[in-house]
Formats: sequence, structure tokens, C-alpha cells
Amino acid sequence: MRLIRYLKGDQPPAYGWLLDEPTGSYAGAIEGSPFEGFRRMDADTPLQSIRLLSPILPGKIIGIGRNYAAHAHEHGAEIPEIPLFFLKPPSAVIGPDEPIVLPPQSQQVEHEAELVVVIGKRGRWLSPEESLDYILGYTVGNDVTARDLQRKDEQWTRAKGFDTFCPIGPWIETDFDPADSLITCHVNGEMRQMSSTRDMIFNVRQLIAYVSSVMTLEPGDLIMTGTPAGVGPLLDGDLVEATVEGLGTLRNPVVKEGSH
Ligand code: MG
Repeated sequence: MRLIRYLKGDQPPAYGWLLDEPTGSYAGAIEGSPFEGFRRMDADTPLQSIRLLSPILPGKIIGIGRNYAAHAHEHGAEIPEIPLFFLKPPSAVIGPDEPIVLPPQSQQVEHEAELVVVIGKRGRWLSPEESLDYILGYTVGNDVTARDLQRKDEQWTRAKGFDTFCPIGPWIETDFDPADSLITCHVNGEMRQMSSTRDMIFNVRQLIAYVSSVMTLEPGDLIMTGTPAGVGPLLDGDLVEATVEGLGTLRNPVVKEGSH
């Protein structure tokens, strides 16, 4: 099932679900919370007549660094022996079609297409075996990074923490197997990144077990599972499209701060 957050007319943002029919996709409301019991109402609103928002307002956003060997190597970094992780602030989150804003402090902002895990249940010290029970679903993310600032700073908070540096969406897919899905990133239609989730150094089960040995995972937390090789610059006027096969495509225009 595809879970969405959306705007319809002048109503407040709401969670809903998407139904795919031969005639198109239709949105329906849900009654209740995606994290507890909920009831699906009729999907009778054409997707074109609503605006999709980021499918969730996350709590913690945990990013995994260097989780694809080829990406670690393109930065001259070693493959980590244990998962390397960092936090992105929830204030960086934007939804589909919202602009990524290039800040004046950086001359080198780059895309990082990633598979994103959405946590559905509170847990600590989870084993890899039980970890999948704690997942609500999966979405696509772009771990936008100011590469020059990442190199300059001792740690990554500034480089990965600017407003708009965490596009996610377009929806949360609850039925998805993360073992072997194609991840691609296109900028202005040109392919920049292509890999499979099977090339992750630490898989989703191992990441959940490891992160939950440090911090309690809560419903609505996100784990961004790392990006494949091929990261590259984003410039004013670009359109960046991150796709995970089986999940969908997350599209965002790029604008310079103050130009909109
Ligand atoms: Mg990343």
C-alpha cells in the first residue's frame, strides 16, 4: 500500500493512501494514524487534483555514510567496518516538487539518491531478525550535501543540515523488499547514479540493529541507507530525480537562495 500526506483544496494536510487503477491513481483519506490502526476511506480523488507533501514529518533522520563501496572510493575513503552514521535535522525535510535551495555558504551542493526506511514502532537493541517488524515502509530520499563544507568541517551537521536538504517521497510503500532494487539519480534527464540496493555494505536489517543499539528508534524516524557512486553537483535551474525501482520517483527543482 502507498501511504501519502497531501493537501486537498483548502483542507489541512492529511494522511491518505493511493490506489492505482488503469484509468489513473486516486487518493483516499485514512481515518486514524499510519502508526496505529487506521481505516482506509474510498480513494475517489484523482492524484492530479491534490498536492503531495513529504509523506511523513519525521522525528530523527539518521543518515548512513559510505554504505556503497564505490561511493566511498570516489571520495578516497575506506569502507567502514561498522556503520558510520549522522543526523539530519527534521527542518531540512521537503516533499516532492518542492525546491532544493542552494545556500550562499556553499559552492558545491550535490545530490545523493537513497533508499529510506520509515520506522513504524518503538524499539531498542533490535536483532537483525526482528528488525523488519519495526518498519512501516520505505520511501525515496535525496541526502543533499554541501560537499565543500563537508570536507571543510570536522563533522557533517552543517553540510547536510541546510533547510531543503532532505527531500523525501513521493509516498511510503508498505509492501517492498529492499534486497535488490535499482537506485538511479537523473539531473535534467541525464543519468548520474545507478546501482542496486544489493550493493549496500550493511543491509537494512543490520542498519536497524546497529542504530537501535545506540538510540531508541521511534515511529516516524527515518534511516537514509546511503548513496551509490556518481554523486555530482546541483545548479540553479536543475531538476533532480531520484528513483528506487518499486517505490517511485522523487522530483525536485533546484534554485539559488534568494532567486525565488
Ligand atoms: Mg548520504
